Amino acid sequence: MSGPAPTGVPLVSLHTHTNLSLCGWPEMTFEVAVAAGVEQGYHTLAFCDHIHVACVTDRPAHAERLRQYRGDRDRSTWPVQVLVGGEFEVQAPGRMVESDEILEVCEYVVAAPNHYQLDWVETSYGSFGEVAARELDHIETALRWPPTDILAHPFAGTVPAPEHLPDGVWQAADKGRVSALLDLALERGVALEIQPKFWYRQERAGHLAELFEWWLDMGGQVALGSDAHSLEHLGRWTAHYCEVVKRFDLTVDNLWWPTAKT
Ligand SMILES: [Zn+2]
Ligand SMILES: [Zn+2]
Repeated sequence: MSGPAPTGVPLVSLHTHTNLSLCGWPEMTFEVAVAAGVEQGYHTLAFCDHIHVACVTDRPAHAERLRQYRGDRDRSTWPVQVLVGGEFEVQAPGRMVESDEILEVCEYVVAAPNHYQLDWVETSYGSFGEVAARELDHIETALRWPPTDILAHPFAGTVPAPEHLPDGVWQAADKGRVSALLDLALERGVALEIQPKFWYRQERAGHLAELFEWWLDMGGQVALGSDAHSLEHLGRWTAHYCEVVKRFDLTVDNLWWPTAKT
C-alpha cells in the first residue's frame, strides 16, 4: 500500500516515537504504529525513541527493546520500510547525552539541540540574544557529534520561557554564526528537520521558513518527521504532509533518505 503522495514525494516520517519513550502514548506500540503506517500508505517509518540521561533511560533495557523492534521488522513482510534509530539530546554546550550501548543498535540518529524542558539540559533564561546563542551552541554540539544524521527541530524545541518564541529567538540569532553552522552541517551531511513544532505553529515559529529556504538554497537536505507520540499525531502528519512538500518545493533530491548502517 505504500506509494508516493500526490506530490510525487513518498510519504515518510523519519521521526516517530513508540511507547518506549517516556512521553509516548501507551497505545503507540511498535506494531500498532507500523500497522497505522501501512494503512496510511507510508513509504518509510523511522522510529527514534528518546535516550535520556542514564538515571532516566535504562540503557540495557532500551537497547534490548530496539533489538526486538529490529527482529520483528526483519521477520516481517510489512509493505513499508521500517528503520530503528534514536533521538539523542544535547545536554550542554559540547556535551551530548550518549550511550554507546544504544548507539550500536541504532540504524540512524536524530540529535535534539533544544529539549530545554528537561531538568538535565542546560538552559539560558536571558535575553533573546542569549537564548539564541545557547541554541547555536547546542546546534553546534549536535552537528559536531559524529553519529548525528538529522538535526531535530532546530529553533523550534521547547522554549525556555513562554516569551522566548522561536521566531524571536531566530530573529536574534547571529546570522554569521548560523551561516558557519550551515556550512558545517553541509560538510557533515546532516539533514535539518522540518516537523510539526515548526509547521503547525506558524504563529510562533513561521519565520523559521527563512532558515529552511536558506538551507535548501545551499543544497542542504531536509528530513521530514511527524514527531508522533500517538496515532492521532501520525494521522495529522499524514494529512498535512503535502502542504510541507509544496511549501518548500521538496523533491526526492532534497530529502534525506535513511540508509541502514548495520
Ligand atoms: Zn525532540
Ligand atoms: Zn521526538
